[in-house]
Amino acid sequence: MIIDSIEVYRVAMPLKYPFRVAFGDFSVIESVLVKVTSGDQYGWGETTPFGHPSYCGEWAGGVFAIIKDFLTPHLLEKSIDSGEQLQNEMGIIKDNYFAKAGIDLAWWDLYCKMRNKPLWQVLGGDKEYVEVGADFGVMKTIDELIKVIDIAVKEGYKRIKLKYRPGWELEMIQAVRKEFPDTVFHIDCNAAYTLDDLKMFKKIDAFDLAMIEQPLAHNDLVDHSILQQSLKTPICLDESITSIDMARKAIDLKACGWINIKPGRVGGITNSIKIHNYCRDHEIPCWVGSMLESSLGASFLIALATLPNFKYPSDIFPSKRFYHEDLSQPEIVLSDPSQIKIPSGNGVGTEPNLYRLEKMKIDWC
Ligand SMILES: [Mg+2]
Repeated sequence: MIIDSIEVYRVAMPLKYPFRVAFGDFSVIESVLVKVTSGDQYGWGETTPFGHPSYCGEWAGGVFAIIKDFLTPHLLEKSIDSGEQLQNEMGIIKDNYFAKAGIDLAWWDLYCKMRNKPLWQVLGGDKEYVEVGADFGVMKTIDELIKVIDIAVKEGYKRIKLKYRPGWELEMIQAVRKEFPDTVFHIDCNAAYTLDDLKMFKKIDAFDLAMIEQPLAHNDLVDHSILQQSLKTPICLDESITSIDMARKAIDLKACGWINIKPGRVGGITNSIKIHNYCRDHEIPCWVGSMLESSLGASFLIALATLPNFKYPSDIFPSKRFYHEDLSQPEIVLSDPSQIKIPSGNGVGTEPNLYRLEKMKIDWC
């Protein structure tokens, strides 16, 4: 298909309440939406590295500039017939995975719409519903955390993820495990620690967690390998896995027992499938993570999560959890306590509400 035009929108989506993780508090989520047109058909993508370069080296303003100034002029009027070809074309730019993902996702939506097929079917998904988990950030007190976990457990969530950071660590997890002896928990450290914290991590083995997500630096594999050899609890890599090559090296180094896949972090759906397949062939289970996208970005995560080697509930949230009004439609809703139904319709099945896009856009071209 010939790429006739590419539109890019940088948006700020107000959150219901600040989201606190190891690297700061957020009151809005900055996201970048991309519309790719070919003839009279179009596809939408969304990519969300947050508003400043703290999750990784990218940020929404930079992603917007990379797409506008480099990827768009390079791709316009080219005929792109596969995700692989698209990735090869975008390979002229080093790194910048979130920027490439914006184009890649829009291309997949357009590709599927042109074939009158839903994305999840084209990807080879085998589920009509995907399982999702509950996720809790750092709170004022441990009692407050225990109350919200109790609600999530009673609602039927099958796993709970807890943010873990200096000052909110062993005492917290000890109290939570005592209160909920049989619940599946894991912790997400967002790269807040180093090997100097080895003793602390060894103590975590006693709490029978499903995994420890990204304990060490965002760009490290070697120290994770050393840490993994010292622990019973499997490590899950998130920030460190930016490409199929990093996934291969992580598995070769025995640096993890799980891999979290976010299409934005790895350059799009094309690379997500490659990583999924490589992990499947090497018996490393995966699960799908999120960056608090609108329902457009989340719908790509849902389609991806239908693939068979995603073996742990995804971080995909109903729109109402974080947003008074979702930028995109239809909203994400739970169809069961811990399940989300795959959006119907061809392509990804979701697109921005143009009235809300007008209100939330802060930069566009
Ligand atoms: Mg994470």
